[in-house]
Formats: sequence, structure tokens, C-alpha cells
Amino acid sequence: MTETGTLFIVATPIGHLDDITLRAISILNQVDIVAAEDTRHSQKLLQHYDIKTRMTSLHDHNESQRAKQLIEHLLKGSNVALISDAGTPLISDPGYSLVNQCRQAGVTVVPVPGACAAIAAMSASGMATDQFRFNGFLPVKQMAKQQTLGLLKAEIATTVFYESPRRIVNTLEAIIAVLGPERKVVIAKEITKAFETFYADTAENALAWLLDDPNHQRGEFVLMVAGVKIDGEDLPQEALSLLESLIKELPLKKAAAITAEHYGLKKNALYQYGLSLND
Ligand code: SAM
Repeated sequence: MTETGTLFIVATPIGHLDDITLRAISILNQVDIVAAEDTRHSQKLLQHYDIKTRMTSLHDHNESQRAKQLIEHLLKGSNVALISDAGTPLISDPGYSLVNQCRQAGVTVVPVPGACAAIAAMSASGMATDQFRFNGFLPVKQMAKQQTLGLLKAEIATTVFYESPRRIVNTLEAIIAVLGPERKVVIAKEITKAFETFYADTAENALAWLLDDPNHQRGEFVLMVAGVKIDGEDLPQEALSLLESLIKELPLKKAAAITAEHYGLKKNALYQYGLSLND
């Protein structure tokens, strides 16, 4: 019986061509087929690294049919690497159906991690990273966009969006309308590229910054929206006093855990309150 092949999910750069791992290069060289979102686009990357592996396309419009063909190859023992135009496949990119079907067919799926715009943006944003939710692209239709943003009214985690240059201004306007002008945001633009910029301020000032110069609206964007602050109003004063004493001696995480246990409270609410003391 033939052993089945492996599907490798390979992350590629999000701008700077050096942001690819040694393992990714080696796997792209070794596999029998590279399935790429846009073969012409990815040809440049493969050429840059002198990789001559055969490519086939897998994009939103042919994924279910192409997935079937690739699974046939995999079941016969071929190895396949999936790449997207930039970053990590399946993160707001095609590949879900292929990976899902591979798992159901018993094909081994192996991640080859690397660049991802959301993670790169979060890591350098200065926003709270202990909890964040990735929300991909916001809906284009205004009603749906406002409804999605409405869910952030009580969200304590940072929310990360991808946004297109055509809609970034409109999205900031919607954030101001739904979440208020004072909500903190970070705009991360052109990460790893020549004009990489991080702009952190209130939604109102971020909108003014975007409108200030048409160049500020160009490029690729990750938009991060801060969670709501826990101001301690709902927490008993004794618990807050204990927490404030403990954080003089202990890391916040530990101090929050001890206080939570002592007063039967939620650890995260105390943790968020502790973080807000530094603001
Ligand atoms: N799979 C990719 C990843 O791992 O980040 C994301 C693909 S998604 C189709 C493309 C979106 O990601 C862009 O519209 C932009 O919002 C964001 N993005 C990709 N590269 C970026 C970069 N260098 N700087 C800022 N945002 C970027």
C-alpha cells in the first residue's frame, strides 16, 4: 500500500522577502507540487529562492475542485505545499476546504509557521496582547459593518482587523460612530516594507491622521481596536486594595490569581484592572 503524502501549510513573507524560514525554503524545494493562490505572484518568490517546484493554483474560485485533485495526489504519496500571496495560508486566505478535506481523508497536514500580518502587527503595537481576537476583514456593507463593530462595545480583548486602503477611512468613521471617538486604536501599515508605519491614538485622531495626507491611506493595513477598560467599578474595594498591595511584590498575573481566588472573582477582570493602573 502506498503511504500517503503530506500537505505542508507554508508561511511566506508579508513584504520583506527575507522573512521566510529556512525550513519553508527547504520544503518548497522538496515537495512535488506547490499549490499557490496566484501562481504568477508566487513565481517571483520561488524564483528569488531558485525553487523550481511545479506550481498549481488554488484560490477562492477553484478551491473545492482543486482540493479534490490535490487530495488524489496526496493519497498516492505526493507531497504538497500550500502557500498564499502573503503570510500564513488560511488566515483570511484560501485553504480551509483543502485542509479540512485532507484531515477527513486521513492525510497528514503539517504547518510550517512564519510571517502573519496580524501577529506581526500585534507584537509591535503596544496594545494589550494577553487576549486578542482576530476578526479578519470587516463586512463591506455598512449595516453589517456597524453590527460587527457593535459587538466590541463590551469586548475587553484587543480586536485585530485586516483592512483595505479603499475602506480604512470609512472603517475609522464607523468605529467612531459605534464605539465613540475616544476608543484607542493602532493602525499598522506596510509592515516589513519601506513605508512601515505604526500610528497609535484615539479613533478620532487616527481618522484625522489618515485624512491629513493621502499617502497615509495607501498600502496594506492591520487595524487594532483596544478592548474596553475595566475601571474596577464592579469589583469590591477590598479586592482592589489587596491586588494593589500584591502587585508591589508579585507579577500582575500572580497577584490577580491570588486576589481572584481569595474573593471568588474573575481573574481576568482583576488582571485588566491591574493593567489599567499603568495607563
Ligand atoms: N494570510 C495573510 C497573513 O498571514 O497575514 C493575510 C492575507 S489577507 C488576504 C491580506 C491582508 O492582510 C491585507 O489586506 C492587509 O490587511 C493585511 N496585510 C498583509 N500584509 C500586510 C503588511 N505587510 N502590512 C500590513 N498589513 C498587511
